[in-house]
Amino acid sequence: MADAPEKEHPVEAYGYAARDSSGHLSPFKFSRRATGEKDVAFNITHCGICHSDLHFIKNEWGIAAYPVVPGHELVGIVTEVGSKVTKYKVGDRVGVGCLVGSCRSCTNCADDLENYCPGLILTYGSKNVDGTRTYGGYSNFMVCDEHFVVRIPDSMPSDGAAPLLCAGVTVYSPLRYYGLDKPGMHLGVVGLGGLGHMAVKFGKAMGLKVTVISTSPGKKSEAMERLGADAFLVSHDPEQMQGAVGTLDGIIDTVSAAHSLLPLVRLAKTNGKVILVGVPEKPFELHSFGIIMGRKMVGGSSIGGLKETQEMINFAAEHNITADIEVIPVDYVNTAMDRLQKADVKYRFVIDIANTLKP
Ligand code: NAP
Ligand code: ZN
Ligand code: ZN
Repeated sequence: MADAPEKEHPVEAYGYAARDSSGHLSPFKFSRRATGEKDVAFNITHCGICHSDLHFIKNEWGIAAYPVVPGHELVGIVTEVGSKVTKYKVGDRVGVGCLVGSCRSCTNCADDLENYCPGLILTYGSKNVDGTRTYGGYSNFMVCDEHFVVRIPDSMPSDGAAPLLCAGVTVYSPLRYYGLDKPGMHLGVVGLGGLGHMAVKFGKAMGLKVTVISTSPGKKSEAMERLGADAFLVSHDPEQMQGAVGTLDGIIDTVSAAHSLLPLVRLAKTNGKVILVGVPEKPFELHSFGIIMGRKMVGGSSIGGLKETQEMINFAAEHNITADIEVIPVDYVNTAMDRLQKADVKYRFVIDIANTLKP
C-alpha cells in the first residue's frame, strides 16, 4: 500500500485540498520531497485561482484523483536551491505555472514546447516520476526542478504577477503563435474573466484593436475604460452580434461553459482564426459550412512552454501589465469558488498564502 500523503516524502507541507467531487476545500497535511540537486524550493506567498482549478476539483473533466490540492499560479520566495541549480538563489522571487516536469527528450521538449510533451507532469493532479501525486499551490511551499521555475521581475508585485503563470501565458501564446500580434489587427476576446482580461491587456500592448464579447453587459464600462477595450458586444444580443459579422482577424475564446461556436465564427473575417483556450465540460458542435465559407480556422492552444512563459512575463513587465485581482485569505477559498462559478470576480482571485495559510 502507498504511504499516506504526509508520509510519502521527508518534508512536511500543508495546504487546502478537495476530497471529492463536491469540490469543497479544507485543510490538508501532506509532504514534499527534499530539495534535489536541480531543485528550487520556495515559500509560496501567493497563488491565483484559475477556473481550471474549479473544473478539476469538481471533476468536470473526469480526471480528478482525490485528494486534490489545486493551484497552478504560484509565486514565492526561494528558500533553498540544490547544488546544481544555476539560475536561482535563496531570496529570489520566482513563479511556477501549470507544469512541474516533462520528459526533456521529445521533439516538443526540444522545441521549448514542454506544454505539449506527452510526458508532461502537471503541477497538481499528475504523478511525479516516483509515482507520488503532485500537489499544487494552495499550500505553504513548493519544490520544483529549476527548468520549470520562472523569474518574477523586480518591478512586478507578487500578487498581480501570480495569474500570469497560467492565465497570462495561456492567452499570450496563441496571440504569438497564430500571428494575431500585428499592430492594427482586430482581435475578439470572448469571456471577460481571468484569461479574457489578460487577453485584452496583451492585445492592447501589442497594438491591436480589441473587441470584448461577453454575456455580462455590466462589464462594459470597465472593459472599455479600465482595460482599454475598443468595443464591447453582448453575445446574447443578436443585433450587436450581427453588426460585427466578418470584422475580426482573430478571436480568443476563453469561455468556461458550454456555448455555441457558430456566432463567434461568423464574427471572423475571411481567413480569420478562432482560437479555443476555454475548456467547457461538454464538446462543441460546429457545422463545416461555418468554417469552409470564408476559409476560417478553429484552433486551440494550451498554456505555453517555459521559455515562452518567461518571455511573456518579461513582456508584461515592460508594458506594466499585471492581472486585476481580488486578494483573499485562504479560508475564503470556497466562497471564491462559488463566485467564480457565477463569473463574479474582477478578474482573478489570488490567495494571500503568506499571511493567511497556517499549519
Ligand atoms: P473565468 O475567470 O471564470 O472566466 C470565464 C468567463 O467566461 C466568465 O468570466 C464569463 O465571461 C464567461 N462565461 C462564463 N459562463 C459562461 C456561459 N455559460 N456562456 C458564455 N460565457 C460564459 O475562467 P478563466 O480562469 O478565465 O478560465 C476560462 C476557461 O479557460 C476555463 O474553462 C479554464 O479551464 C480554461 N483554461 C484553459 C487553459 C489552456 O491552457 N487552454 C488555461 C487556463 C484555463 P463574461 O461574463 O464576459 O461572459
Ligand atoms: Zn489555469
Ligand atoms: Zn517531452
